Amino acid sequence: MYKNKGLVAEAFPEELLNRLKGQIAIGHVRFGDGTPPSLSNAQPLTFNYLRGSVALAHNGKLVNGPELRHRLAVNGSIFQSDSEAEIFVNLIARYGQNPLEEALLKCMIDIKGAYALVVMSEKQLIGIRDPNGIRPLCLGKLDDGYVLASESCALDTIGATLIRDVEPGEIVVIDEKGLRSFKTMVPSRRAVCIFEYIYLARPDSTIDGETVNIARREMGKQLAREARPEADLVVPVPDSGTPAAIGYAEATGLPFREGLMKNRYIGRTFIRPSQKIRDVAVRLKLNPIREIVEGKRVILVDDSLVRGTTSKKIIQMLRNTGVKEIHMLITSPPVLYPCYYGVDTSAREDLIAACYDLEGTRKYIGADSLHYLSLDGLLNSFKGSKDRFCTACFNADYIAGKPESHNER
Ligand code: SF4
Repeated sequence: MYKNKGLVAEAFPEELLNRLKGQIAIGHVRFGDGTPPSLSNAQPLTFNYLRGSVALAHNGKLVNGPELRHRLAVNGSIFQSDSEAEIFVNLIARYGQNPLEEALLKCMIDIKGAYALVVMSEKQLIGIRDPNGIRPLCLGKLDDGYVLASESCALDTIGATLIRDVEPGEIVVIDEKGLRSFKTMVPSRRAVCIFEYIYLARPDSTIDGETVNIARREMGKQLAREARPEADLVVPVPDSGTPAAIGYAEATGLPFREGLMKNRYIGRTFIRPSQKIRDVAVRLKLNPIREIVEGKRVILVDDSLVRGTTSKKIIQMLRNTGVKEIHMLITSPPVLYPCYYGVDTSAREDLIAACYDLEGTRKYIGADSLHYLSLDGLLNSFKGSKDRFCTACFNADYIAGKPESHNER
């Protein structure tokens, strides 16, 4: 096992990776989830129990994590980190008289919330997706082996072929006998996080049969049906706003122009911890191209408006560059409620749409007009059933429940 802080390329020098020998491996890139950024909270976690060594990595958030941790502690479990992954570790140990996959099945009955897990023993690689499939997990093939990943673009990168997504509530076990699948007894209704398509996933990923790039273009086309301010240009906030801006431009016939240049060496701003760091990060990350936007009426397309602070900075930068009018178009509905399933979209009091009405938000960000894509418009951007997404941050429909000890944040 090896853990380090920083971007993956910095944290994992090649000579170090070359030293990690074996025929099964798992890895994890940590997303700011509110727990302290210490190495003890970094995953995978490794442990020894009745049946040998196991390593485990988890993406998501449990709604009954604190209660389970307390119950386990009362019964003698010891915790060494704040990571929720340790709850899985202790439950697996508690069910240690069963084979690993059966122990994991029992864990799934105890655990509520959103999770995609990869678990590795000395002989098995196991993948699990929560009963609603809120967090994505896909399965690929590489030569004679199998690969599990949160996003299918990771498979492309290493030359693996996407086989399919792990189904909600499914456990896939890969060992020397090949691939086996178990469905849990937990009732499942598919509800993949719609924010994966709006912002989180890379556009070249495919989740549950929908290519993110195509879904984002459709969101732009839907928005063109709902909002048509008079303008000269369509400009995206790169990168997640780009496919939707292309879709909007295609639907309206307005020219698409890249009026904001992105510095590709700076990370995502919305997951950065403090407001001060976020403010500086916006300026480091984006720079307007004066020749494209000066004197123009611009339709500015972004994927979402969470705190509103990033949009405010971008609009101010564009104004300073001499843009005549800025019409802000958002390819998602107003984010009104917090996410309890592993996306750090802020406490309710920090969500701009929960604090201000449309006009108040427009004034706050400094745009000439502001339009959000409706929830129906968003759902109509997808093929097939519209009832297979988590949309709780827009409508409070928390399919996997809310934290049991939850107080309105
Ligand atoms: S509440 Fe929003 S961000 Fe969280 S899982 Fe649901 S759709 Fe995704």
